Amino acid sequence: MIAVAIDGPAGAGKSSIARQTAKEIGFIYVDTGALYRSIGLHMLNHNVFPGDAQAVSRELEHLDIGLEFQNGEQRVILCGKDVSDLIRTPEVSKASSQVSAIPAVRAFLLELQKNMAQTHNVIMDGRDIGTVVLPQAQVKVFLTASPQERARRRYQEILEKGGSADYEEILKEIWERDERDAGRAIAPLVPAQDAVILDTTDMTVREVIDRLKQWIAEKTA
Ligand code: C5P
Repeated sequence: MIAVAIDGPAGAGKSSIARQTAKEIGFIYVDTGALYRSIGLHMLNHNVFPGDAQAVSRELEHLDIGLEFQNGEQRVILCGKDVSDLIRTPEVSKASSQVSAIPAVRAFLLELQKNMAQTHNVIMDGRDIGTVVLPQAQVKVFLTASPQERARRRYQEILEKGGSADYEEILKEIWERDERDAGRAIAPLVPAQDAVILDTTDMTVREVIDRLKQWIAEKTA
């Protein structure tokens, strides 16, 4: 099996790059952020404060999360219900980042993520894929871009979907999430020692995908 690990901060373009590259080379794309998001959503729905480590850890007993693939698209099934479209709100983004700092949550999701890579060729994106989840991955990339550029992309994406957004507010959320993800004690957001760091601030999506495909071809030849 071949595993490609893509890590990096929120808004660096990981998911678009990983999804499209996976499609072009016939791998499955595993979006691990969606798993943390579904746990965040579950806590909000059950009135459990996502920052309360004890309460969240206890609630994990009632949680059942699975991944399914429909036409190559990942769907997250939370307690039997497809929540893939419900986990993209700003409230869930914040809750997911809070629960992701809790060791029991990371342990809970580890096996599920590892199993995906045992049975499929995968491109997996997240924060700790190259360091913790798939340290054996043949290709490791750390994608990044300036906070301003990441906020601009998010802002643009929301407008294109017909929504309205406040750029300054998005930038603030990105700073906060970066700080929480990089500063946490467990699995902090840092590049794996053997990861290639790619700053995409001035690159198009196509350029990033082509660079990634070239690395994958070189490493797996
Ligand atoms: O990638 P996405 O923005 O969907 O991730 C949501 C949150 O889940 C992140 O802010 C991060 O805190 C957490 N996460 C994580 N480890 C991963 C993927 C996501 O801690 N592998």
